[in-house]
Amino acid sequence: MNRLLGLIYPPKCPYCSAALKFDMTECLVCRAKFPETPRIEPLVTGEICVAPFTYNTVIKKAIAQYKFRGKKFNTHSFASALAGSIKNVYSKDMSFELITCVPMSPDRKKKRGYNQAELVAKMTADILGKKFVQVLYRDSGAKEQHLKSYENRIKDEDNTFHIIAPELVRGKNILLIDDVMTTGTTLSRCSSILKENGAERVFCGAIAIVKGYSFGNSKRYIDAAEKQSSGKGNENGT
Ligand SMILES: [Zn+2]
Repeated sequence: MNRLLGLIYPPKCPYCSAALKFDMTECLVCRAKFPETPRIEPLVTGEICVAPFTYNTVIKKAIAQYKFRGKKFNTHSFASALAGSIKNVYSKDMSFELITCVPMSPDRKKKRGYNQAELVAKMTADILGKKFVQVLYRDSGAKEQHLKSYENRIKDEDNTFHIIAPELVRGKNILLIDDVMTTGTTLSRCSSILKENGAERVFCGAIAIVKGYSFGNSKRYIDAAEKQSSGKGNENGT
């Protein structure tokens, strides 16, 4: 069936739209341009986040197609690039008992039909031979991050994510996946919840990390929130 669909709708490279052979996840020209080393960025909570890509124009477009135009095929390329970065960076710590992802609220998931972070996390788990378990959930009332004001983003953060059942994470090493890391706030919050509920260690991964991200920026972002200042941060935390 997939093969038949492939004949009618030939797969295209997620990054340049060139036609692909059936077993390819991206064209050779784009693959040759993939960064040689993964991005590794620290989070304020002490973890690091690993990503194969910087969120540049090409990656932004590929993710946007995937998120808003239903091009789920892009998942294969994102997941195999992410799995490669994870093996590269966490090779000594590949003892994750499970892989999970930043959840989407039930309302959003119903509207869109899928959670892109979940699709990538599940496929990454398959590639790495690990188990995917959704251990977090997100309140339905939570607005999309980019629709919120800076102050509300910070204020809502504590109330947005919850653990499904602590016994799922207690004593476990967990790989937490999101699609794009912007300020690191979402990954930090989810990671904290996992650790508060007994997770042994948390490792983070994303398809891409924004260009301007640095620990310093993220630290200022959190500090500003703590002081309840009238911060002037923006969506990218830059
Ligand atoms: Zn290409």
